[in-house]
Formats: sequence, C-alpha cells, structure tokens
Amino acid sequence: MPVVVTIARPSVASDFSDARAFEIVPFDQPIVDAMNLGITRGDGIFETIGIVNGIVQDEEAHLRRFARSATILELPIPDPSAYRAAVAAGIAALGVTDPTTEVYCKYVLTRGIEGRPLSPTGYAFLDVNPSWDRERTTGIGVVTLSRGYALDIAQTSPWLLQGAKTLSYAVNRAVLREAARRGADDVLFTTTDGYVLEGPTSSLLLRFDDSYVTPTPELGVLHGTAQYGAFNYLASIGASTSYRPVLISELMDADALWMTNSQRLAAPVHTLDGRSIPVDTEFTAALNAALLARTE
Ligand code: PLP
Repeated sequence: MPVVVTIARPSVASDFSDARAFEIVPFDQPIVDAMNLGITRGDGIFETIGIVNGIVQDEEAHLRRFARSATILELPIPDPSAYRAAVAAGIAALGVTDPTTEVYCKYVLTRGIEGRPLSPTGYAFLDVNPSWDRERTTGIGVVTLSRGYALDIAQTSPWLLQGAKTLSYAVNRAVLREAARRGADDVLFTTTDGYVLEGPTSSLLLRFDDSYVTPTPELGVLHGTAQYGAFNYLASIGASTSYRPVLISELMDADALWMTNSQRLAAPVHTLDGRSIPVDTEFTAALNAALLARTE
C-alpha cells in the first residue's frame, strides 16, 4: 500500500501552529484543499527520488535542486530537514524488507491555498517502484519533438521557469501521448535552433567513441541526478565525460544513447525517430548496477 506523509512545516516561512512536523496519513484520505494553487495552477515544485535498500539515492542533490526550483518560482524555500524527516518516516511506514525491492518517493511543495498567504503545502508520496526491467535492458524507442524555443531560453526568458522542476507537467505528459501515437516510448525535446535538450522526465546521455556527453544543464534543461551519477561512474572507470551543447545533427554520429532518471535509471535508446541504434547491453547493465549502488 502506498504511503502519504503530510509535512506541516514544509518551508521556513510556513505557519507551523502546533501541528506535528509530519504525519503519515491513510493513502485514500484527501490531504489537499480544492483551492490549492498546486492543483488549480500547477504552481509548485516536486522531486522524484529512488530508494534502494533503505538508502535515499542522491538525497542532498535532490534537495538542492528542490531549493533551486523554489528560488526560480519565488516560492518559500523548502526546509530540507522537514523533507528528509518525512521521507525517512515514509520509508519506515512503507515497511519494505526485501533489499532488492526498489522504492520511489515523490515530494511536493505548492504555493499553498489561493488567497491565504504563507500557506505552502508540502507532502511526500512513496510506493514500490514498478518494474523497469524491459526499459533498462532491451531499451526504449524515442522520438524527437520540438520544445518550440531556442537553446538560450533560460537566459532570455527566465519567467518561463526553465531549469525548475515545476508541477506544470501537462506538456510533459502530452508529449508522451504523441510519442505513443508515433509508436515510441519516450521523447527527446529539441530546440528551434537545432539543439537537443532532455526528455519530459529524463536526461540524455550520448557516447561518441570513449567519451560521454550530456547537454549543458544551464541551457534549458534540468541537471539530472541520475545523469550526474552516471558521470561519477564513468569517471571511476576512466571514461571521459563532458557537458556541452549537443546539436540534433550529432545524434546520428553517437554510438549509443541513454535516457536517465531517478526512477527508470539508464534506459538505452534502441530506436530514434524510427532509426535503429545499437544497445550496449553489457555496459548498460554495469551502469544500472552502479546507479542502483549509489549511497548518496
Ligand atoms: N529532466 C526532466 C524534465 C525531468 O523531469 C527529470 C526527472 O524527472 C530529469 C530530467 C531527470 O532527473 P533525475 O535524474 O534527477 O531524475
């Protein structure tokens, strides 16, 4: 049964009253007000994290990105200790005993209830991670879709909130429906000036000979924690890694491609826009084993 944890004081600015710091609530109990801006406007932020053998993977990197998203949206800054404690309580309440069972947690901060200042809402949701075996081994089919803006969007139009992980993910869901219509599993966003960005819920990793590349995080994409974990693994085996703008035209030259995120980990791309891409089964298995073994 999934676990829901409400966080009474999600940010240092929230009105604490005398509520408990966090509370495990029955999964089917409503916890969000109908006028909550997270619901009515998608005005809030979230993180999705993986938990393996009771260890929260990249806990601090997720909390840093969460705080950065709050800054971009001018939300009250989330209190990291409240979220750490809520996640730990949720893990305990979920009660998974098998060390090989993966868990995921989504935690949220919204601007709160319309018309009520300083009412940020925080909660966490935890469940057993569904199986991603097929995606992690056989791989995924991906289509490129235009995001409709240029690479320097974050610099030219910061009000569009690029680089923040906001709750406004309707577009990120719509593109998956478009991918399904085209017979694919996932999407790689491209810019109007010829660059690749990221997926709707993942980062792109490319291999050219022995060197691994991912699009620069400051340029319109989130800095993925799984991608960062992959770079750490690659550095540990002596491979070269770099962040740089990647042209759409370079996709054709890559020896291998992966889409990475905290839940699915590294999914090799077996087809891009209908064109077959080789899957390095052995390397992908080693990469996913390393991602699963992350302890921080
Ligand atoms: N890019 C976007 C837009 C995402 O939503 C996500 C995760 O959901 C990622 C990249 C990958 O981030 P992470 O590896 O931290 O899960």
